[in-house]
Amino acid sequence: VNERTPVLIVGAGPVGLALAGELGWRGIACTLIEKTDGAIEQPRMDIVGPRTMEFCRRWGIADWVRDAPYPGDYPQDCVYVTGLDGYELGRERFPGRAQEQCPPQSPQKRERVPQDMFDPILRRFVETFPHVRLRYGAELTSFEETAGGVVAQVRDVATGETRDVAADYLVGTDGGASLVRERAGITMSGNPALTYTTNVMLRCADFTSLHDKGRAYRFIFVGPEGTWLTIVAINGGERFRMSIVGSADKVTHTEADIRQALTRAVGRTFDYEILSVMRWVRRELVADSYGTQRVFIAGDAAHLMSPTGGFGMNTGIQDAVDLGWKLEATLRGWAGSALLRSYEIERRPVAVRNVTEASSNLGRMLATRQRLPPAEIFQAGPAGDSRARSTGAGSPRRCGTSGSRSASTSVTATTARPSSAPTARRRRRFRPRAMSRPRGRARVRRTRGCPTDVPRSICSGAGSCCCGSDGMRPMPRACGARQRRPAFRST
Ligand SMILES: Cc1cc2nc3c(=O)[nH]c(=O)nc-3n(C[C@H](O)[C@H](O)[C@H](O)COP(=O)(O)OP(=O)(O)OC[C@H]3O[C@@H](n4cnc5c(N)ncnc54)[C@H](O)[C@@H]3O)c2cc1C
Repeated sequence: VNERTPVLIVGAGPVGLALAGELGWRGIACTLIEKTDGAIEQPRMDIVGPRTMEFCRRWGIADWVRDAPYPGDYPQDCVYVTGLDGYELGRERFPGRAQEQCPPQSPQKRERVPQDMFDPILRRFVETFPHVRLRYGAELTSFEETAGGVVAQVRDVATGETRDVAADYLVGTDGGASLVRERAGITMSGNPALTYTTNVMLRCADFTSLHDKGRAYRFIFVGPEGTWLTIVAINGGERFRMSIVGSADKVTHTEADIRQALTRAVGRTFDYEILSVMRWVRRELVADSYGTQRVFIAGDAAHLMSPTGGFGMNTGIQDAVDLGWKLEATLRGWAGSALLRSYEIERRPVAVRNVTEASSNLGRMLATRQRLPPAEIFQAGPAGDSRARSTGAGSPRRCGTSGSRSASTSVTATTARPSSAPTARRRRRFRPRAMSRPRGRARVRRTRGCPTDVPRSICSGAGSCCCGSDGMRPMPRACGARQRRPAFRST
């Protein structure tokens, strides 16, 4: 054995960094290894939920997150459009992060801070602890568990040299393709492929001037086939993320497909630079076990969910904090013998709940695939205008030019084509049919803890809102993603 550590953490994504920070904050020595150099080519998460912010507050780094350079006045609206040159079908209004209030249950609010801003904050926090060793370019290749601990083989990516690291405990925060999970023989249950999606990071300096819909966090594009694309303001500046949502049918989008999708979304060609492309599979999986005596998993290693709702990392950081104090108690000798077993008992049901909720959100976002919009609404000119008016979605008006930017509780229908906007401004609630007839309790319940108080029955779950992170709602039957709940092993 070349090296010893009380806790060896594998994978310095946000969850591994959070666990190393939690242990460091508790005065527990640990080693965190990461096979890459830590550079983030394509940020995935961008919403830091109120509970994660409460941990940041406890760690003394809430101000670092608040001061991250995502502009505070950038409206966080989610806007449904037929195209950026087409009709605005509906808008959920959310204020910029600087204006948003804390929910009544918490001294912290959610923060829009993308991963390439948030991971460096966690890394800076971890690096404040001299008893925490953070090694980039170090890859776990295998490990053996014994009654007294774990011996792991760790390869230096630069030199290829492998060293044996002995640890009392090993934690796999090594993401969806977790080697730790695989080597520990832990299976997952659920649905392995909801959609085959392509994410494209873009640089486009003049994006807002290309259209009349104003600034918004997310545009959701509804075509004759239903919801097919989203574009997200990733840093509130010139970087955007386009997602071709896809379906459960496996497809590999080419660069030509990507460029065609952008032209279709905007309604014309425009200047942009493709920064990176990430093809990924949206999954709905929870590990059947969270570990053994000496080996545990946390974060995406333990649960994989649709990003709709922004729960993935936030759920993982809660895993890390839960496991962190239990490891401390065990290592310091004041834990009962069953304490570490309670990690799975406490955290796995939360993952099942959040994975299910994320899929329900996806179902609401894709509901237009089952209840297709009227074909005429995709036609420019009088036919489209007339159909837009007759759907009751409101008279055409110029989009993004009126209405308060403060927190709004309504989702408004705002069909518009600039070429034909009359002066009348009748607005009413946008209720796509699949959302307007939720069954059971979903009809009346509001989202507990949601700072914007969006009624759950009309929450798009499009990722801007924290809806669903605090409570369950029954899955609407008219779900575009799937019709039946996946089978998760009961705890
Ligand atoms: C488009 C999109 C948007 C999202 N938005 C949100 C959001 O707003 N909010 C939210 O909470 N979640 C969001 N998520 C989910 C979130 O990104 C993930 O849940 C989160 O990144 C998981 O963190 P993690 O640390 O568990 O795993 P990862 O981020 O996958 O990190 C795992 C790390 O382990 C390393 N590793 C793997 N194997 C080894 C090995 N053998 N040795 C050493 N290192 C290894 C990897 O290199 C990697 O750095 C989103 C996901 C997507 C796809």
